[in-house]
Amino acid sequence: MEELKTILNEIIKDKTGYITFLTGAGISAESGLPTYRSIDGIWIKGTKYHRPEEFGTFKYFSQEPEEVWQYNLFWKKMIAEAQPNAGHLALTEIESLLADRFRLITQNVDGLHQRAGTRKLYEIHGSKQKVRCSNECSEPIDFPENVKFKEYTEDLTPEDIDYLKCTKCGNWLRPNTLWFDESYNEKNYHFDTANHIADHTDILFVIGTSGSTTLPVNIVETVKIRAKWIVIINLENDTYFHSILKGSKKLNSFQESSTVALPQLKIIMEEIINSSIF
Ligand SMILES: [Zn+2]
Repeated sequence: MEELKTILNEIIKDKTGYITFLTGAGISAESGLPTYRSIDGIWIKGTKYHRPEEFGTFKYFSQEPEEVWQYNLFWKKMIAEAQPNAGHLALTEIESLLADRFRLITQNVDGLHQRAGTRKLYEIHGSKQKVRCSNECSEPIDFPENVKFKEYTEDLTPEDIDYLKCTKCGNWLRPNTLWFDESYNEKNYHFDTANHIADHTDILFVIGTSGSTTLPVNIVETVKIRAKWIVIINLENDTYFHSILKGSKKLNSFQESSTVALPQLKIIMEEIINSSIF
């Protein structure tokens, strides 16, 4: 990390752009949450096997809302039992060191960054902590407290179904998350803001994400085109991000878990800031 320290020293002392972090499923996996696209991401209902790309769609929700909610309540249970880890907490500490230069864009919908206390947070795939009317009649609201989280095989109760209906128009509420057959937008997913951040970033840390959705790829491409620094922290060293950044002189790559790398990074930033004369 010595080279990175030199780079960060210059960026922290001489530049004014954002120091941006982009996180994906890898950081939550270290809190015990299965990655969405791994084998654990497959949802089995009765004898039917579904891949996220099939049932994680508005189309499927429109046909089988109860089944999609059952799956989501099972996830809600796993999320509620998971805790933010050393990586999430280090990012919150890094935010307090960097103040307004810090930005965190996450692909995760589990709310663990929020629970860890991060404020300048942009959840570009939404959050399971919120719901909204599937008929889009109103703004997103907090997840209804009265709805009980589920075991894998538990069905919805009539009370659950009542509480999962919009109180204004009576249509189903839906998770406030981006499905595979939907497009990014600013209103629910910070699309314009995320692109603006990418345009004004001096160094981008890409953590535990492999590059399978379009906005994260756009963000990395934008930072690359602007010839700014990119740092990959990932247990794998052959992700799509590695391939699009191959040969880049401004790439640092660490084959490391985020719970190990981020606390180290926090210490480096602390040393740089403490050695500065302001
Ligand atoms: Zn409604």
